Amino acid sequence: MWGMIATWRMALEGVEKASSLLKENGSCFDALETAVKAVEDFPFYKSVGYGGLPNEEMEVELDAAFMNGTTMDFGAVAALRDFANPISIARSLSKEPVNNLLVGDGAAKYAAVNGFERKNMLTERAKHYYEKRRKELSQADRPYDGHDTVGVVSLDHNSEMCAGTSTSGLFMKRRGRVGDSPICGSGCYVDSEIGGASATGLGEDLMKGCISYEIVRRMKEGMTPQEACEMAVNMLDERLRKQRGSAGDLSVVAMNAKGEWGCATNIETFSVVVCSEVQPLSVYRVSRDHEGNMKRELADQEWIDDYVAQRSKPLE
Ligand code: ASP
Repeated sequence: MWGMIATWRMALEGVEKASSLLKENGSCFDALETAVKAVEDFPFYKSVGYGGLPNEEMEVELDAAFMNGTTMDFGAVAALRDFANPISIARSLSKEPVNNLLVGDGAAKYAAVNGFERKNMLTERAKHYYEKRRKELSQADRPYDGHDTVGVVSLDHNSEMCAGTSTSGLFMKRRGRVGDSPICGSGCYVDSEIGGASATGLGEDLMKGCISYEIVRRMKEGMTPQEACEMAVNMLDERLRKQRGSAGDLSVVAMNAKGEWGCATNIETFSVVVCSEVQPLSVYRVSRDHEGNMKRELADQEWIDDYVAQRSKPLE
């Protein structure tokens, strides 16, 4: 069995490319890197890689992680500036014996020494959003809304699995801020014998529940990926509301070692891309009712196309 699941419709083209690799017996590791790189390279997605929105000092600082579910190797970069594909650097770091999570200048030095492509990741479009938001901020002091990290779980014919994330983090975040995405067990987690999970949303809250690890733990105890995702999101959401009065955005995806998948969210509409040996490549829109039940429906072509059209339309 092979399969892949990813957060957000933006992963569609990447997952499509990756699925051709998986079908032809490619490794889940190469497939995941292929899928994530496609999102990182696409200039119109404002939350991942090139074109990602900057921090409050107008610098694009990127976080990414890669985990191998067989060896448990984990590598990550955080607050990395000026490199094209953080996911590839995270994958490379996962093979190091120690020093697996590098931040800022240390991460950039590692990337430079190891020949990764340097690139100015700040686009004119991102600068425009930055200037616009800076003006608005004097009125409303809430820099963050919406969330869009790409998070992927990948399964191949050899029953190997991996998981990974890539993000520019919160728009207007403080310089040096690190979210959940490069943190093992929060942004992603995977065990080839059980399954994997990945998250997107408010990193500060996702971390409080070590949510990706929590989903894998629940699958180990026998839950389906869907049950594990729903339970993890609903319980963390409830706990945060009870103890702190509010919960940030929490959205997750998971796939188990059999290629079964699940997803959950506490926001109005989350979207996921999924495919496997038995599941044609599809985009689902996911939402939650007041009782915490998840509803997922197949996205139609119009919605799929509009997603890109909205993000690439000319700036006003
Ligand atoms: N989880 C990411 C972070 O907190 C944001 C996102 O998913 O968009 O950095």
